Amino acid sequence: MTGSPQRSDVLVIGSGLAGLSLALRLADHTQVTVLAKGDLTQGSSLYAQGGIAAMLNDGDSFESHIADTLAAGAGLCHRDTVELAVRKGPEAIGWLIDQGVKFTREPGVNGPAHYHLTREGGHSARRVIHVADATGSAVQATLMDKVRGNPNIVVLENHIAIDLITGVKLGTGESRCFGAYVLDSLNGEVITPGAANTLIATGGAGKVYLYTTNPDTSTGDGIAMAWRAGCRVANMEFIQFHPTCLYHPQAKSFLISEAVRGEGGLLRLPDGTRFMPEHDERAELAPRDIVARAIDFEMKKRGLDCVYLDISHKGEDFIREHFPNIHARCLELGIDIASEPIPVVPAAHYTCGGIVSDRHGRTDVPGLYVAGEASCTGLHGANRLASNSLLECVVFAEAAVDDILGSKSRPLPRLPQWDESRVTDADEEVVISHNWDELRRFMWDYVGIVRTTKRLKRAQHRIRLLMREIEEFYANFRVSHDLIELRNLVVTADLIVRCAMQRKESRGLHFSRDYPEMARKPKNTVLRRRRPVR
Ligand SMILES: Cc1cc2nc3c(=O)[nH]c(=O)nc-3n(C[C@H](O)[C@H](O)[C@H](O)COP(=O)(O)OP(=O)(O)OC[C@H]3O[C@@H](n4cnc5c(N)ncnc54)[C@H](O)[C@@H]3O)c2cc1C
Repeated sequence: MTGSPQRSDVLVIGSGLAGLSLALRLADHTQVTVLAKGDLTQGSSLYAQGGIAAMLNDGDSFESHIADTLAAGAGLCHRDTVELAVRKGPEAIGWLIDQGVKFTREPGVNGPAHYHLTREGGHSARRVIHVADATGSAVQATLMDKVRGNPNIVVLENHIAIDLITGVKLGTGESRCFGAYVLDSLNGEVITPGAANTLIATGGAGKVYLYTTNPDTSTGDGIAMAWRAGCRVANMEFIQFHPTCLYHPQAKSFLISEAVRGEGGLLRLPDGTRFMPEHDERAELAPRDIVARAIDFEMKKRGLDCVYLDISHKGEDFIREHFPNIHARCLELGIDIASEPIPVVPAAHYTCGGIVSDRHGRTDVPGLYVAGEASCTGLHGANRLASNSLLECVVFAEAAVDDILGSKSRPLPRLPQWDESRVTDADEEVVISHNWDELRRFMWDYVGIVRTTKRLKRAQHRIRLLMREIEEFYANFRVSHDLIELRNLVVTADLIVRCAMQRKESRGLHFSRDYPEMARKPKNTVLRRRRPVR
């Protein structure tokens, strides 16, 4: 089945903070189509709790935010990108306020200068602006309302991009991007929205791992599509793991805040023994990466499904007052954290690497831009500083807007419709679910928090087998939402493993037992393919 192609000036693939902010800024000037593979809300942006980092206070400075970002990035941040993001921070927050985001104010104080700022790990000043403990959902709701009411923006929900349409695919010889093939998941139709410029704003790839704080949408689609189209991809080995995600079959992606450890929570093995003091003198208060690594070590050594975080000794009143949401959510799931420990696992949280882009969000393919978690702008380097990611979404969406508006408009070629003449309905859907589970399990076991060359090779071997099987399936059967995601997941997994194998050192979020030291000269891992996929 094929559908009628639609055209717009700009096609935005993704409706998180990056996609919506670009669409809103552009819509004053031009016509935009926004794709979301589920409904508009779905994406990591909705789940962001902490807030957005920006220099907003007299006691802070741009230099200090820059220095903190560079320190977290362990030698791999691009200084000019960091400068750009940090210096644009106040303006980005101002734009969100103009859209109607009601950031939390200091109690009893009104006026623009009196927003409440929190301080997070790695930041040397209070600079995280927030909306209580649900910043992402407040920002997302505000921008969604604006997008829905804008006559220049066409929103296509439940539309999943399959692949980019480039000149190489069309056989014109030029590598330019002209839009994408997109599956309407509700009716199975494939449409070909053409556009002079396309933005990838598809978010990260946490779903490559068995345990993740990311929503179901984070399957690395944009990274895989851009890779197939000929873009460079970099630093994919740097996956940030959150140390404590609730381990419960009915609770996907529920974070147990690090504040629980900050307030005296203790990590225990199933028999009640504490283990953090053996790993670091700061015990439970050690930095996030060290705690995640220690939990991973204990789980792998003892074959455990989870460890336990115990705050019950603080008493019910204290817990209800300090952690009302965690208390209530756990209680719903039958865990009373005032009298029993919380089962937790570390979980993939943030993809630092991605599609290589410049200061304007441009990729290697003309007409193709990227913003947000799918990008590798050089802001995060080897480790993301907390709350810099939402900032990156807004700043680089704006940078891309300026570039798109300044670019010459070109006529679009005729785009061929999706060809389904040689495929049939899938006979065995189980292949998809089985491969999906297998991939996420071995990525967790072999390419998780602590890596070795032997484990990476094991993963690579399995990835090659899976890739062959999935490509064969893709070539012979009608595309479905799950098949598109699986195809992208396995490519993203391959990119992570390739980057990890190239890094012969431990730096930032990449820790290898075979190369525990940090090399003297910091180097990005940049992958480029020999030729784009036709
Ligand atoms: C639990 C949690 C808490 C966080 N807390 C913070 C925080 O406090 N501060 C901070 O700075 N960062 C935080 N982060 C990180 C931050 O939320 C993300 O990095 C950021 O929201 C990414 O935004 P994005 O627009 O790039 O992607 P997303 O918000 O993930 O949006 C991706 C969009 O792309 C769409 N999409 C994907 N693939 C396709 C496809 N093939 N076709 C069509 N559409 C597609 C999805 O439907 C979705 O609309 C947190 C992340 C998580 C998971």
